[in-house]
Amino acid sequence: MTDTPKPQQGTWTLTAPDGRTWQADSPIACVRNEQRERVPAEVALQRIKAAVAEDLCELCGEPMPPGETMFRYHGLSGPCPKPRAAVQTTD
Ligand SMILES: [Zn+2]
Repeated sequence: MTDTPKPQQGTWTLTAPDGRTWQADSPIACVRNEQRERVPAEVALQRIKAAVAEDLCELCGEPMPPGETMFRYHGLSGPCPKPRAAVQTTD
């Protein structure tokens, strides 16, 4: 991996089209502050869970065991550990 330059030291300012600003000591911290203001923590958590949902059984919603995550449902290792849940899928 190659080293990349660090952001310039000092105060960074992110300016929205409407003129609101967020200040922090790095560009990414400015963006994080803007996003925290706009996206509730609960929504952010749901998005993280959705991102890893590929490893959840589509029937019961429980995590799939290692080696079985290429399948969509429990079955190879045994039946679902929980009864079928109302799991929403996007496809
Ligand atoms: Zn299952």
